[in-house]
Amino acid sequence: MIKHHPNQSMLMAFAQGQLPASLSIAVSVHTDHCQHCQDQVLALQENAAQILDDNDPNLPEWDSDDMINAITEDDCEIHPKSSAPLQLNIKGYAYQLPRALQSVPMSNWLKLGKLARARIDLNEGEVHTNLLHIDQGGEIPLHTHKGFELTLLLAGSFSDESGHYVPGDFIWLTHSHTHSPSTKEGCLCLTVANDAMHFVQGLSMALNPIGRLIY
Ligand SMILES: [Zn+2]
Repeated sequence: MIKHHPNQSMLMAFAQGQLPASLSIAVSVHTDHCQHCQDQVLALQENAAQILDDNDPNLPEWDSDDMINAITEDDCEIHPKSSAPLQLNIKGYAYQLPRALQSVPMSNWLKLGKLARARIDLNEGEVHTNLLHIDQGGEIPLHTHKGFELTLLLAGSFSDESGHYVPGDFIWLTHSHTHSPSTKEGCLCLTVANDAMHFVQGLSMALNPIGRLIY
């Protein structure tokens, strides 16, 4: 069962279309898994629409025939996006990418040991968004974060000091958290972070390549 959700202010910003693309994609994927948050977002959006209506009694009323004419008279051609799910194969694991990730530019995979990551290019400066795959039996050494680190589990499962995570879990961590995630069966995550992780055990010099790969 999903235990980790975006907080209220993030759901509000999402409902109002105010989140940066990275976080918006993450919340969107989470709500695909989580009926509870999906309902909240719908309620927030209806609320916002209600406030708009109340504030502006002069909004034009649409005649539905006019609307249909307006649509069919537009000669711009629309090519519906293929609804076939995008299959992802990495190191012998097959994953299905969620809808929100099917049209974003993605780099090739970089591999290091049991880890592999592909950069999702959203042009958000220091905020980096990645797909991170960990082979079965893989783990990330004990670390904390200088900025924030969002992990959205897409497939498989992993555990850390705080518990066990399933697809859809939305895990928001900052410098006050220290953890060492590991996975028995392997997993695929979407990660968003605004700084490199900081290893607190072992030789950080030796671990830096892992940190660079993941950030
Ligand atoms: Zn939720």
